[in-house]
Amino acid sequence: MSCNKRITLVLAAAAWLWTAASWATSTVEIAIQCPVCGNTFTAHVVASTNNFRGQDRDFYERAAGFPPVLMHPITCTSCWYSGYHRDFDSTVHFDDATRQLLRDSLARPADYTIHEGRAMVPAWSKYELIIQTSRLLGKSWQRIQFAAMRAAWSVREIQDPVSPLGDDYWLCAANYADSMIKVIDLPSGTRACREVALARRLAPELRQLDDSVRLCATLGVVQLFRSHGENGEALETAEQVEGLIALDQFLTFYDSLLASVERERHYQKIALQILEEACAEWPDDMTPADNLYLCGEICRRLGRYADAARYFERAQSGMALSEGLSHWIREQRALVD
Ligand SMILES: [Zn+2]
Repeated sequence: MSCNKRITLVLAAAAWLWTAASWATSTVEIAIQCPVCGNTFTAHVVASTNNFRGQDRDFYERAAGFPPVLMHPITCTSCWYSGYHRDFDSTVHFDDATRQLLRDSLARPADYTIHEGRAMVPAWSKYELIIQTSRLLGKSWQRIQFAAMRAAWSVREIQDPVSPLGDDYWLCAANYADSMIKVIDLPSGTRACREVALARRLAPELRQLDDSVRLCATLGVVQLFRSHGENGEALETAEQVEGLIALDQFLTFYDSLLASVERERHYQKIALQILEEACAEWPDDMTPADNLYLCGEICRRLGRYADAARYFERAQSGMALSEGLSHWIREQRALVD
């Protein structure tokens, strides 16, 4: 299945969610003028959003409706200058040398395509261009690190692991997960917490399930893990799909999942490197605990469990912790001990 088809499926799912929560998330189309090359175009920007789907443990706030993380980045497809809405504000001006630097340095992303006459740049590539633009303009490390995290989150939102198998498989997986979350007793918490808890509850029992439900259940668990960026567990569970469908179908499914996980990890590594460099600038007892925690959480998601444990330990013993962060550190540390 092509990337465009997968995006179409995600958009279809998002459109359903949009209908269900249209009062909660909205966008507005605005006219944009590029402050570097003067190109004019339109972009959809987020007018209002929410966090009704909870928060993943790497701080990704999930909205009901179309994911805002896909709408935030804006790219000029004439000169590739990229930023957020405010970076295209009429008050933004660059001198001639800066404009020339940006035009000479920013390049068309490899996955740029034209679809039905419209320029298509995936959100993660727009964030990558925001990282490049921000570095050229000497912006803060926080902005660059956040763009890298958002790039990772946008991969998580767009690349559904089951959609390469087709709509029928996608629906049976989604329906299975949706029905189970209503009947299984799960710890209270946000939708995100409950979905990850559900996947961890179901995963060990998949091999014992009756053949009639095993495929949908296994795909559903993969989908749950992948949608929250719990990629190690997603890949581990995905291996169980082998033998349940034709080999060529399995390889298409698994290779697509692996490629999307690798893409997300690519951006997580960029964010981690920036965070680690920032943390190294502070004395141990002055390093913000949320930065240390996030280093640990990204390491965990990359499978670097010993590094994750060390960061979680530093976060626990460092600056004063909020009750919420302290709880998260304890839970995530237990996953790597
Ligand atoms: Zn431009």
